Amino acid sequence: MRKDAVMEKKRIPSMLLNNLLSQVDQTMGRRSLIMLLRRAGLSRYIDNLPPLNELPSIRVEQYSELLANVYELFGARSAQDIFLRDGRLSAAELRRQRPAQFALTGTALKLLSTGRQMQIVLDRLVEQTTEVYGASCNLHEEPDAFVLDIRVCPYCAEIARRSREEERPVPRPVCHIPVAMLEEMVEWATGEKHLVEEVACIAKGDPTCRFWVGR
Ligand SMILES: [Zn+2]
Repeated sequence: MRKDAVMEKKRIPSMLLNNLLSQVDQTMGRRSLIMLLRRAGLSRYIDNLPPLNELPSIRVEQYSELLANVYELFGARSAQDIFLRDGRLSAAELRRQRPAQFALTGTALKLLSTGRQMQIVLDRLVEQTTEVYGASCNLHEEPDAFVLDIRVCPYCAEIARRSREEERPVPRPVCHIPVAMLEEMVEWATGEKHLVEEVACIAKGDPTCRFWVGR
C-alpha cells in the first residue's frame, strides 16, 4: 500500500482532536469554534467535544482539512498560536495516555547525557507520529542538532494542496504543532529548553517538512 494511502485510512485518537478544538475555543471563542466545525463538516462536535482518550475520531485526511480550515479562517498568526498551544498539550497528553511507551523512559532517562536523552525521546516521538498518522518520518543526528524530516506530512498536506490549487503561495512554514511537540518532549526529557525550528515545509514548496532541534 502507498504511504499516503496508509495515512488516509488512519483515524486520529480523540484526545488529539479534543486538544485542537479546545485550543480553538480558548483562543478564538466559542462562535469561532462553531464556525470552524460547520466549515469542516464536523458539526457533530458542536457542544460535544470528542473525549480525552484513545478512541478513534476523524480520519487523518479530515484532520489535515481541519488544520487548513483553521489556517484559512483565523489567519496565519492566530493559527500559529492555536497550533503551538495544541502541540504542547498533545505531547503531554500522549505521554499520559501511553505510559508504556514513555514511563520507563522517564525513570531511566535521568542518568543519561543530554544528547542521549534527546535521542531517546525523539525516537519515541517519531514512532508515535508514524503510528498515529501513518506519516513517514526520519530522524538523523548532526553535530549541533537532531534533524527530523516528515516526508508525508499530515499537518500541512491540505494547506499545501490548497496553495497549489489556488496558486496562493504560503510564505512561512505552517507545521507548528510538531514544533511545539518536539519542544515540549525535549524539555520534559532534558529539563531544559532547546530551540526547535521548522526549516523547510512542504506547504512552502519544499520537498519535505524539516525540523531542526538544537542540542
Ligand atoms: Zn510543514
